[in-house]
Amino acid sequence: MHNFFNSDTNNTSTSLNEQYNSLKDNYEQIFIEAAESIRREIEKFKPKNPCANCKVQNCKIQKKDVFTDYPIGCQYRDWQKQILSFLDGEYKQKLKNTYKAIMDKKQDYSCSCCASCCKFATSEYSYEQLKQRAMRGDKYSADFVSVFVPYKTEEEVKLANPEYFELLNKILDDQKIYYYYCPKLEENLCSDYENRPDICKDFPHNPLKLLPSECSFNKWKEDINRQAMLLKAKTDIIVFYKTKLA
Ligand code: SF4
Ligand code: SF4
Repeated sequence: MHNFFNSDTNNTSTSLNEQYNSLKDNYEQIFIEAAESIRREIEKFKPKNPCANCKVQNCKIQKKDVFTDYPIGCQYRDWQKQILSFLDGEYKQKLKNTYKAIMDKKQDYSCSCCASCCKFATSEYSYEQLKQRAMRGDKYSADFVSVFVPYKTEEEVKLANPEYFELLNKILDDQKIYYYYCPKLEENLCSDYENRPDICKDFPHNPLKLLPSECSFNKWKEDINRQAMLLKAKTDIIVFYKTKLA
């Protein structure tokens, strides 16, 4: 689920592009760093020369790689099982703790009430799809449709935020995106503040989200940006390991 935001200054376009380019440019290096860090972790419990006492004769495997297809009875095969259990247990918990620390850090900053997040939100789901997800018990979707309604035309969207519209069109290729706004916003103030749902109270929900330049949580994002990208890279790499080793 994406949320992107409105702005009426030309600087925001640059800011959004800068945020996007920074994410894109830095992610490759951070991904390599994350992969190396995970490789070091799993090398720690790689068996030391198990072939010397191997009961499987003549396996002829030269490269003892983590993703090699080892025969039954081979200690490297047990190592692969250990890796899966480590990544799904201790390591996953470590990543969860990091995520919690990132989100807890947000409490050091506060909303400046610019209302940008009320004026412009996006989702990969249509309004109907969101309502169906809400009916199936998805809390985020239920919160979303309780406040946001879709913009009626593409022209309205373009007028509301031409820079963001242009940026999304550039980076999302063929992926469909739906645009929303909250009609409860009146003269830049929330008309139902006491009853606003968690989706409003907890914004921004994603540490890698692109934010408008006026959002006061940009400072939080700057603080945790590297840590959040590392976390994302590690999470993606774990999925890759699990798929390959399963
Ligand atoms: S309910 Fe209030 S805080 Fe939430 S999006 Fe609408 S105007 Fe903004
Ligand atoms: S400061 Fe950020 S969270 Fe607060 S209203 Fe503006 S965009 Fe939303």
